[in-house]
Amino acid sequence: MSIEPVDALRRIAFLLERSRASTYRVKAYREAASSLLGVPENQVHERVRDGTLKQLPGIGSSTAAVIEQAVAGRVPDKLAELETSTGGPLVEGGEELRAHLRGDLHSHSDWSDGGSPIEEMVASAMELGHDYLALTDHSPRLTVANGLTAARLAKQLTVVDGINRALGDGFRLLKAIEVDILDDGSLDQTPEMLDQLDVRVASVHSKLKMDSSAMTRRMVAAVRLRHTNVLGHCTGRLITGDRGKRAQSSFDARAVFEACLESGTAVEINSRPERTDPPDDLLTLAIGTGCLFAVNTDAHAPGQLDFQAYGCERAQRLGVPVERIVNTWPLEVLLEWADPSS
Ligand SMILES: [Zn+2]
Ligand SMILES: [Zn+2]
Repeated sequence: MSIEPVDALRRIAFLLERSRASTYRVKAYREAASSLLGVPENQVHERVRDGTLKQLPGIGSSTAAVIEQAVAGRVPDKLAELETSTGGPLVEGGEELRAHLRGDLHSHSDWSDGGSPIEEMVASAMELGHDYLALTDHSPRLTVANGLTAARLAKQLTVVDGINRALGDGFRLLKAIEVDILDDGSLDQTPEMLDQLDVRVASVHSKLKMDSSAMTRRMVAAVRLRHTNVLGHCTGRLITGDRGKRAQSSFDARAVFEACLESGTAVEINSRPERTDPPDDLLTLAIGTGCLFAVNTDAHAPGQLDFQAYGCERAQRLGVPVERIVNTWPLEVLLEWADPSS
């Protein structure tokens, strides 16, 4: 079995990302892959013969070894080792639901706090078999995550148009945002910009410890807005991982989910292992309330697009009806639902 050097480097990065390796460990492979993309194949082969691969920008000893082994027509050791140790299913259960998913409505690129260019997120989403991916970079006030001003978002939309033109039919990159829910429940982007998007995920990222009645008012107001399609990671909790732990926000979940039901806003099932949000008890409450759902990854790197397995496992185990998961819907149905004027 042989593999192209770029594909080997990308696959290694993907496997590291889905097994939650630090961005730092993955970076070398991502950088080497993008560096190699600009080099014609015969020149790569020449450099392998001459031993001058490492003179290319972004290529070091371990990435050069991967390239050399791929050029020699064999599966690179590093890749073989990762396929064995981490290439299997991330979790057992949820496979049936996952087969119904057509896309992902929550992902970040290097325009905000993601680690990869938009194009790489798109390529990986297509390789996972998705029909669509929503590009939901952050909104202006989330400065720590390099949130997009209206002007930067406008620029991003032209980039998205270009990507979709190049892709043609068969896959659609959705114009989208993860917009901050401000203290008063309003959204952190201009209505004019929000109108231009296909999908909007609204999330609380600030003042997570607000008292319960104020947080309830804030969230209820936000999910009722015509622009809000999906309520992102509703409790804000962190249960594991590099960023430490964070308690869930307190709010009247029944009131928030009822407002979601009335306004047709989907409750996100956030698949990130450190979030696993909403927790099982709240997810059960939302199911009983009759809400719509979106099983999202909140991927900040291409390999994290595979986290959907975790969300599917929970959704299936807790009995979320498939037809109530908006990202099982065909694109046209999804767009119609998300249209703020409909
Ligand atoms: Zn978020
Ligand atoms: Zn996010």
